[in-house]
Amino acid sequence: MSTTLTAPMLPEQMRALVLTSPGKFEIQTVPMPRPEAREVLCKVRAVAICGSDPEIIRGGLAGTWPPSYPFTPGHEWAGEVIATGPGVVDLKPGDRVAGQAHCGCGTCANCMEGRYTICENYGRPESGQRHYGFITPGAYAQYAVYSVRSINRMPAAMSFREGSLVDTAGVVLHGMELSGVRPGGTVAVIGPGPIGLIAMRMARLLGAARVIAVGRGARLEAARLAGADTLVNFESGDPVEAVRAAADGLGVNEAIECSGAAGTFRQAVEMVRKGGRVVLLGVPPNHVVEPLPFKYIVHNEIAIFGSRANPNVSRKVISLIAGKHLRVDDLVTHTFPLENFATALDTFVNRRDGAIKVVVEPN
Ligand SMILES: [Zn+2]
Ligand SMILES: [Zn+2]
Repeated sequence: MSTTLTAPMLPEQMRALVLTSPGKFEIQTVPMPRPEAREVLCKVRAVAICGSDPEIIRGGLAGTWPPSYPFTPGHEWAGEVIATGPGVVDLKPGDRVAGQAHCGCGTCANCMEGRYTICENYGRPESGQRHYGFITPGAYAQYAVYSVRSINRMPAAMSFREGSLVDTAGVVLHGMELSGVRPGGTVAVIGPGPIGLIAMRMARLLGAARVIAVGRGARLEAARLAGADTLVNFESGDPVEAVRAAADGLGVNEAIECSGAAGTFRQAVEMVRKGGRVVLLGVPPNHVVEPLPFKYIVHNEIAIFGSRANPNVSRKVISLIAGKHLRVDDLVTHTFPLENFATALDTFVNRRDGAIKVVVEPN
């Protein structure tokens, strides 16, 4: 095996976050992974905690995410290539890279169209499909093995912390590309969490003339820093009325739902103007089923886009961040070493000290 590696003298073991059963985890010493064909071994420098991580750790999705125990989650990361497996021609040790969670099979109809986050062979590793940190071992570790298709090189001008937000920012860009946010319009963003805050900035980059943020509390204040022109607190009145009023009484061109909370899908539909577009980025819990104004959607040609993850956008996001067009570094409010993962998780889940994005640095 080791004869296929281009970099010798790798450690035999590493530290990793290991989920041992639903709701239980430890930092353990585990064997070092080795890259196979078209894979690279990376030293993980920064991993951002994702909103889906606490759910995976709690074990509410055990059997699916993760499929079994023990398991190492983590998918929003950046680091450097340490060694390459056979057949890697475009990456070499020392390259700085940012990861993304999905790798498609490459051959199903959706993958052939570039829509690999909805790969028809999802969950069949023998097809080559991977979902790192969900069903394939992830990045809360000192080192991780990734397919060359799930990493992108980033320039020296970009920090690893910024690199750990490429996945999140890509989720936003994909949703906006699906809906086609156009210059000169008004965009409403529901849910000023990490995705929502980046959505406000991305909407501006795509030419939105006006950005309206819907939320509450400290995070709604953060929306001001992310460039929102109008803040709508949903606790102090009907958010639909307030958003429509702030958008010429007609409603917004696009509503971007980033919370996954009950009731917000319908609100998003009612916030857009005739011919408006609704993008769903927030992932709701399984039990949330929304009643929708069926006839209203038909008669007003409201377009609704479900959006999954971040296919084919990481390179664009890296260019936007490296070129200082998209700012993400100020969303990283806390960093912790891997050994303090429990504190990092608590800080993120309970939004301690205004936590927005919490980053774990395993090395
Ligand atoms: Zn994520
Ligand atoms: Zn596929």
